[in-house]
Amino acid sequence: MSYGAYFMYYKCPKCGKRFKYCLDAEKQNEFGQCDTCHAVGVLVGEGCKEPDNNMEYEDISD
Ligand SMILES: [Zn+2]
Repeated sequence: MSYGAYFMYYKCPKCGKRFKYCLDAEKQNEFGQCDTCHAVGVLVGEGCKEPDNNMEYEDISD
């Protein structure tokens, strides 16, 4: 049985970018950081489905 990828969803406190990391992301040492300004993101949700607020979360796991 497959549950699909598990994501952590963040919003950047500096630039407001919304992004997500796959739980088994390659970038473990940057996990949770914005890829634009490198601020540590505010966790807004986690799971296999996006938080229900109609916002796009960019996958920056790779
Ligand atoms: Zn940012």
